[in-house]
Amino acid sequence: MAFYTDAMANYEFDLLIAGAGPAGCTLALNLAGKGYRIAIIEKDIFPRHKICGDALSGKVLNVMQRIPGDVYNDFLQNLNKIPSWGIRFIAPNQHEIDVPFLLTREEDQPAPGYVCKRNDFDHFMFSKLRDFSNIKIFEGERLTEVVTQPGHVIAKTGNHEFHGKVIAGADGVHSTVRKFLQNTKVDHKHFCIGIRGYYENVSGLHPENYIELIFLKRLLPGYFWIFPSTEGLVNAGFGMMQHRIGKRRENLTHILDDIIANDPLIAPRFTHAKLKSKTEAHTLPLGTYRLNRSGHRFILLGDAAFLVDPFSGEGIGNAMASGEIAASVLEQNFKTNDFSAEGLKTYDTRILRRFSQEFKTMSIMQRLAGSARLFNLVVNKARKNKEVSELLSAMFTNEDVMKKLTRPGFYARLLFK
Ligand SMILES: Cc1cc2nc3c(=O)[nH]c(=O)nc-3n(C[C@H](O)[C@H](O)[C@H](O)COP(=O)(O)OP(=O)(O)OC[C@H]3O[C@@H](n4cnc5c(N)ncnc54)[C@H](O)[C@@H]3O)c2cc1C
Repeated sequence: MAFYTDAMANYEFDLLIAGAGPAGCTLALNLAGKGYRIAIIEKDIFPRHKICGDALSGKVLNVMQRIPGDVYNDFLQNLNKIPSWGIRFIAPNQHEIDVPFLLTREEDQPAPGYVCKRNDFDHFMFSKLRDFSNIKIFEGERLTEVVTQPGHVIAKTGNHEFHGKVIAGADGVHSTVRKFLQNTKVDHKHFCIGIRGYYENVSGLHPENYIELIFLKRLLPGYFWIFPSTEGLVNAGFGMMQHRIGKRRENLTHILDDIIANDPLIAPRFTHAKLKSKTEAHTLPLGTYRLNRSGHRFILLGDAAFLVDPFSGEGIGNAMASGEIAASVLEQNFKTNDFSAEGLKTYDTRILRRFSQEFKTMSIMQRLAGSARLFNLVVNKARKNKEVSELLSAMFTNEDVMKKLTRPGFYARLLFK
């Protein structure tokens, strides 16, 4: 059998990671120094193209700081990016609130958030893998099939068969690992579609590069975003629930163009703007969907595991957090050599512990944002109530604050206090 030939010897590993996005790279980098034989299998060749809003929240920075080595300092010193110090919400009634990410600031403190083109950020993370000889990178290899057999899991690409003790599906929203090992049909209501372009000469940006979420009635519970980016550009676009779009994806570009040309709040800011890229759309899998994120010889991470915040659409920090959790769980499984569904269940438990309360809160926020009237009320509250404005900021910065704020009773206070 091909598995045992010399030619295939290079393709036997402890851990197979499908996908080298933020989730896959974070997992690999957290295990890199431990000596496991890791294969990272990626369909594209880096630097690869990625459609995103490019906002890196405090969650991203927190996980990055815990990755062994110089990743965070290198990010701060060497990556082309824009520091962002806060967030501006604009309600459907056009009332706005500016919420700084930090309540107090120290001198020389790094920014609490950044906007960094995903092509650059993902390439930066990916290039860190090259420092480790126990991580073998297979670029340009699209996974087409995954099967489990007694003793191992096999991942097939057009060129190779990779054998591992366990596979981590970090292969994005249309995950092949999920399709073969955890086949579930997901309702449209758990997906959002986002479209974005890069524009120059957009006016009215906040002097400290606040990211802007503008809740237009026609997009609710989605929003239009304006994120100041590098090279004098802004990343602007919107997210909309998939079931509200149906099959007419091509209309998204028309909606974007229409908002930029005609929306009374947005059009004046784009009067002299020029589109400097294609406008491109992609799907976001929301954390409202509950699935088993582990099973016999596999775990799912990031978008493959439906970990995008249902209200903000933020997914990079959560993807990286799942990579960090996966690394700590798998280390134990390598000790016991138990990759059964039962043995890997700890991963599900840890993911739920980390995200379930936050996703519940954000689902409620998403539902509130579905009604212009209720969301106007929330933004009005946030203008007067520190607890509510802190929540809006904490969504993008600090999971500990989120936990504190979302204790039972928070929702009632949100609307009625
Ligand atoms: C329009 C839009 C705007 C967004 N804006 C933001 C934002 O501003 N901030 C934020 O935090 N989040 C944002 N998100 C969400 C964010 O992009 C994702 O949550 C994040 O990329 C998830 O990381 P990941 O590593 O799980 O998956 P990905 O980044 O998608 O990486 C998956 C990797 O797997 C590879 N792959 C896929 N299939 C295969 C295969 N069959 N074989 C081998 N490799 C494969 C892909 O090439 C890719 O490199 C946005 C999403 C969209 C669509």
